[in-house]
Amino acid sequence: MISVSDALDFVLSTSLNYGQEIVLLEEAIGRILGEDILSDRAFPPFDRVTMDGIAIDFESLKNENQKYPIESIAPAGSPQISLVDNTKCIEVMTGAVLPSGTDTVIRYEDLDIIDDSCTILSKVKKRQNVHKQGSDYYVNSLLLSKGHKIKAIDINVLATVGKSSIVVRKLPTVAILSSGDELVSVNTTPLPHQIRMSNVHMLVSRLRELGLNSKHFHIADNKSEIENTLNTLINQYDVILMSGGVSMGKFDFIPESLVSLGVECLFHKVAQRPGKPFWFGKSKDVTVFAFPGNPVSTLACFHKYFIPWLAKCTEQIYCLPSVILRTTTSFKPNLTFFAQAKIKFENGKIYADISKGNGSGDMVHPTIMDGFIELPRGKDVYEEGEVYSFIPFHSILK
Ligand code: AMP
Ligand code: MG
Repeated sequence: MISVSDALDFVLSTSLNYGQEIVLLEEAIGRILGEDILSDRAFPPFDRVTMDGIAIDFESLKNENQKYPIESIAPAGSPQISLVDNTKCIEVMTGAVLPSGTDTVIRYEDLDIIDDSCTILSKVKKRQNVHKQGSDYYVNSLLLSKGHKIKAIDINVLATVGKSSIVVRKLPTVAILSSGDELVSVNTTPLPHQIRMSNVHMLVSRLRELGLNSKHFHIADNKSEIENTLNTLINQYDVILMSGGVSMGKFDFIPESLVSLGVECLFHKVAQRPGKPFWFGKSKDVTVFAFPGNPVSTLACFHKYFIPWLAKCTEQIYCLPSVILRTTTSFKPNLTFFAQAKIKFENGKIYADISKGNGSGDMVHPTIMDGFIELPRGKDVYEEGEVYSFIPFHSILK
């Protein structure tokens, strides 16, 4: 049985670049840029008025309380106009092009306007309230780099430079395959010996949170059905995430079926709890993560192995926070223990309080937890104050 760190190394060593594709701006959130984004114009593209008020020629300002008759008005969205008489002013709106012949904007709040004549009530600094053309970025500046993960704030930039479609890294296509004769669909009333399948829906949703679409299939614990379905999926998808059927049970046919279909087993069973029976393998066409079916086992394996693998495929840096253990915990088996924990931010540090729940079948307990603290094997007692890495299974910012 291999260690958690060897298992992770194996998984990461199979990461692949799935190429690139073009998506629409509205679909770009969360994707990884496959191209550099350059400014097509200066930022801002013209001397932009930043306050509603008047524009004057600063040189014309000689004394306090000077009066400026209004010569004309410059709204946002109109071509640039000119100040003809520099003893006068032009009314300007935020977003307008600064009129030629002016260089300074005084906001309405600092003016007294009577009969189309403005008296300046405050001290004025040359070029105030003007966002100078190109003062943020020149034309052809690098704004966002290839490999950058697109967040909502980046959409501003992409829209501004006219990117209605964007080259992004292609994501693998994912099939989710549940197995087990005891599992029925969500809209079925289970017989006394049955349960509704849940894991796979959790996986579909978690993938969606990560920006990946997936398709769900189900197989009974029947060897020929398993082989037929797997054979089809192997040829259609880049990744298969499975849940169930990889343990020691008499009907756990999945590992042998995968191998018979040419998927090489890179490891089966990892020295960890939960998730020990995890099976991982690949062929030329597909990467298979076959997780044990207990909900907390699936949850642990998905977050420990699949998410870092996906991050590596898309060349994203994946790092986990370190947390300070606040609950002295004893765990005797010689296995890495993924202990469920809740975390708290205090005085700039992150603390983790372990709460074990009722084993790997207890799917309700993780709903009130934040993630797993990874307690490496090799010791029996993990003391309060020790620092370990933390694997969040949802956003830890509340
Ligand atoms: P297995 O890994 O197939 O031995 O299953 C371990 C336990 O997890 C069994 O109690 C299964 O009924 C349960 N299980 C397997 N797959 C799922 C699933 N998709 N949703 C909920 N429970 C499952
Ligand atoms: Mg099963």
